[in-house]
Amino acid sequence: MSNPIIIAGPCAAESREQLFGTAQQIADIFSEKGISLTYFRAGIWKPRSNPDDFSGAGRQALSWLREIERDFHFAPCVEIARPEHAAACAEEGITNFWIGSRTTVNPFLVQEIADAISGLPCTVMVKNPINPDLNLWAGGIERFLKNGNSKVLAIHRGFSQNSESIYRNAPIWQIPIELKLRFPEIPLICDPSHITGDPSLIASVSQIALDFGFDGLMIETHINPAAALSDSKQQITPAMLAEIISSLIFKSQTTSPTEEALRKQRTILYNIDSQIAELLVKRMQIIDNIAVIKKDNNLPFVQPQQWGKVVENYKSKALDDQQYKIFLDKFLELLHQQSIERQSKKQ
Ligand code: PEP
Ligand code: MN
Repeated sequence: MSNPIIIAGPCAAESREQLFGTAQQIADIFSEKGISLTYFRAGIWKPRSNPDDFSGAGRQALSWLREIERDFHFAPCVEIARPEHAAACAEEGITNFWIGSRTTVNPFLVQEIADAISGLPCTVMVKNPINPDLNLWAGGIERFLKNGNSKVLAIHRGFSQNSESIYRNAPIWQIPIELKLRFPEIPLICDPSHITGDPSLIASVSQIALDFGFDGLMIETHINPAAALSDSKQQITPAMLAEIISSLIFKSQTTSPTEEALRKQRTILYNIDSQIAELLVKRMQIIDNIAVIKKDNNLPFVQPQQWGKVVENYKSKALDDQQYKIFLDKFLELLHQQSIERQSKKQ
């Protein structure tokens, strides 16, 4: 890929200082490392789950973004979630938008926004809906394509989930890949910040996306993530962003098809290993919790029928080959041994 689309900037515009500070650092470090920024993002109307949470700086931030465009030559983009947001942007001359995942779920609203910007040449990036529904995502995209005058992009930000996972939002890669097959001409961007919710996983998820043929990345970047008023845990500094981007392998950098094929598989493997590593630690922590409950209630720490259920669960998901069965027996023995040792230490 010769020119990946790079979108960076804070989750939310919080103040003029925070926005300028972030933009300045991105500008400095990107020029030093020869990286170019395609869009500078900042949410100014924030869709928050809790009504008491910071909900964005609002309309005043549009003029800060115009100043950033003037001073740094960054193309600003904001989330619009209502036709009125589109109108405010049009008045301030902001023409790059994204549609958030909570908006994409609502076809009425998406249509109203599409109608509101139908006369305006603009860029619209449609995030996937929070639920894993390819047709709903595709339908949202179609509504803007029908406008004819909008440049349309798609952003994959993962899907809400209730199960325990190392990701904030499950990537379910087959959905964006299917979308790419349906709309090969629409650039597909990955938002690893909202998928992972965790800076330590941003690089590996970004690499997977690039390996799957994504056209770019949207990464939340804040001058001081710890002090961010929204999504503080997942934002990274401009310096971290530049480091991640420099570490990524973009398609054009690879040499032979064999190397390319191997690298793809290894990236996926690395991601699986990260998940196994984290889940194993979580499992040990649960074992410790159980040990405390058993101790407090004078219960025996070895409960064979419980372990039988664990074994049954693993076996029901096993590969049907002898080699795997032998491996699984050894692994389960180790796991059980470890669990007994940890629990006995707590007694
Ligand atoms: C965002 O990009 O800040 C945002 C609110 O994203 P999403 O709609 O993916 O939750
Ligand atoms: Mn965010």
